[in-house]
Amino acid sequence: MSPAEAKTRIESLTSELKQHNYNYYVLAMPTIADYDFDKKLEELNALEKQYPEFADPNSPTQQVGGDITKDFVTVTHRWPMLSLGNTYNEQELLDFDQRIRKAIGDNFEYVCELKFDGLSMSLTYEDGVLVRAVTRGDGIQGDDVTTNVRTINTIPKRLKHGDYPSQFEIRGEVFMHLKAFERLNNERIEAGEVPYANPRNFASGTIKMQDSAEVARRPLDCFLYFLYTERLLFRTHWESLQAVKNWGFHTNEHSKLCSTIDDVFKFISYWDKNRFDLSYDIDGIVIKVNSYAQQQELGFTAKSPRWAIAYKFKAEQVQTELLAVTYQVGRTGAVTPVANLKPVLLAGTTVKRATLHNADEIEKRLKLHEHDWVFVEKGGEIIPKIISVNLEKRSPDAKPVKYLTHCPECGTELIRKEGEAASYCPNDEGCHPQIVGKMQHFISRKAMNIDGLGDETIETLYQNKFIGRISDIYDLQQHSEELKKMGRFGEKSINNMLAGIEKSKEMPFEKVLFGLGIRYVGETVAKKLAAHFKNIDRLASATFDELIAAEEIGERIALSIIEYFSDEKHKQEIEKLQTQGLQFVTIEKEVTLASEKLSGQSFIISGVFEKFSRDELKDIIEQNGGKIVSGISAKLNFLVAGDNMGPAKLEKAQKLNIPIISDAELFEMIA
Ligand code: AMP
Ligand code: ZN
Repeated sequence: MSPAEAKTRIESLTSELKQHNYNYYVLAMPTIADYDFDKKLEELNALEKQYPEFADPNSPTQQVGGDITKDFVTVTHRWPMLSLGNTYNEQELLDFDQRIRKAIGDNFEYVCELKFDGLSMSLTYEDGVLVRAVTRGDGIQGDDVTTNVRTINTIPKRLKHGDYPSQFEIRGEVFMHLKAFERLNNERIEAGEVPYANPRNFASGTIKMQDSAEVARRPLDCFLYFLYTERLLFRTHWESLQAVKNWGFHTNEHSKLCSTIDDVFKFISYWDKNRFDLSYDIDGIVIKVNSYAQQQELGFTAKSPRWAIAYKFKAEQVQTELLAVTYQVGRTGAVTPVANLKPVLLAGTTVKRATLHNADEIEKRLKLHEHDWVFVEKGGEIIPKIISVNLEKRSPDAKPVKYLTHCPECGTELIRKEGEAASYCPNDEGCHPQIVGKMQHFISRKAMNIDGLGDETIETLYQNKFIGRISDIYDLQQHSEELKKMGRFGEKSINNMLAGIEKSKEMPFEKVLFGLGIRYVGETVAKKLAAHFKNIDRLASATFDELIAAEEIGERIALSIIEYFSDEKHKQEIEKLQTQGLQFVTIEKEVTLASEKLSGQSFIISGVFEKFSRDELKDIIEQNGGKIVSGISAKLNFLVAGDNMGPAKLEKAQKLNIPIISDAELFEMIA
């Protein structure tokens, strides 16, 4: 390579890797496999060594990667949070072992641990109390995410017993279990939201949320694996792991003490095979020299400790042929492309399909051509992903895959909103999967949960022109004779179905609201809206500002609600459902008063509280005669504020001179 070529290559690698760092750390949406990233970083590193004059001083080789965002307070780490050296093969691991032997001789042990695929977190405890949780950030500084981390059940907020020092820092990995990931991602898909690509992105996206109440709804877990104290308390890393476990921390039970590199290889090959049986994702093994004295002797490079290394599993990859790209239309009209592949065995299962996400993935990232050979990879994700195209196998006359311009179901031209990756079919009244999908959603278990009525019955009833919209379901009673004549269903099942439909009229407003299938209004959002606005009329006439003033309602949801209710057809449908007897008003719980101490006073609760959920506080206020109101106005008597309350709310309350009290002060009022 000539110096000029090296210069161009260094520049292009630098800017490409910076972009990948941004995608990974800021967007939490990596578009490259870890392995490919590391290979490119290695190439850049080698070139920079050979041609230091062309190296960018801020080159990705000089950084740990950055994820500091402006939404949180930046904190400088007491001890920098370094990265780990990476290897992908046995030879590199043997080299690591040799380097260590050269430096400290043959008398040492390793601790082998699983390398959890989440985000690293530093926790500080003072006198046994969790006082701070900080993300890795750029290694030097990170984001203070304490309130969000407090919602993680397995992280002790207060240590119970043990001889822990008055001040220490402990580090570990925050992650989400695969089961929880699947469940929550399905909820997102159901609500028309963009699903997360993998549990790690879900976990890191969650930790960076502004609303700690939403964080609390998403089950995260954390394994701790490093203890830092001012004075060394233990002789070895292994001893410290046993100790912190006794103090109440969640450590991983698979860690192993190994006295030879052969044992390390055994550990690696065991977990390479068995990792898919774990309930969480790991992407490798971390090998650490056990003795602290020996760790100190070995020391650090600028980026990572010399006494530890990560052996990364190569994600299993196979090559196969793309047969076709097909498209699915969901109930909200969202169109998802799917790659149909020539069946191939991957990590123990036969793969026939892979996700393609959206038009950009097909046309910009992969630049997919018809009948391309593609590399498919399976991480912890359920559906495999296409990593790249094997260009050598592309035939010269292959045509690029063009994303659809028209709906595959009804032929309507698709629309793509500014700033959104997904395309939609706007023909919600005449597009088969949308019409049927909306009714199927309405009757589903989490919505109206109608007994005696299932997805297939909805399809059949639609095909036979009995139903075309939700309200038609409630007219079926009038057509029972025709239903019987159709001969598709027995009398008993028709009666069961009609009884189930009748019974569903008792379902609470929040279920009806969720069942309507308004884009971005998932189960939880529907609950919040029903609780906040109390009835459909107030919700339908709410302004943008009123909507975003409600708990957990962001701009995107607010706009979607406004758009929904601005449609005359939706209004008519809701009116009809109202006359049919469905619930469009939140039924307030009967409260038995514990006291009248708060009578005549109005309250708003905001933020998160250490000891109570907001619903508990709300009940306590109401049981003592107080009233919970929804918006801050001059008439409001008290704002009960916890941690992390929205800055807009706080500002408004201060402007109006509304007394802001803590939960403790609230209890003084009723004591
Ligand atoms: P890398 O991001 O590839 O440089 O790998 C280093 C990261 O691995 C650390 O910052 C941790 O977040 C993560 N990690 C996962 N499991 C462990 C473990 N058992 N010990 C140390 N680091 C771990
Ligand atoms: Zn359509």
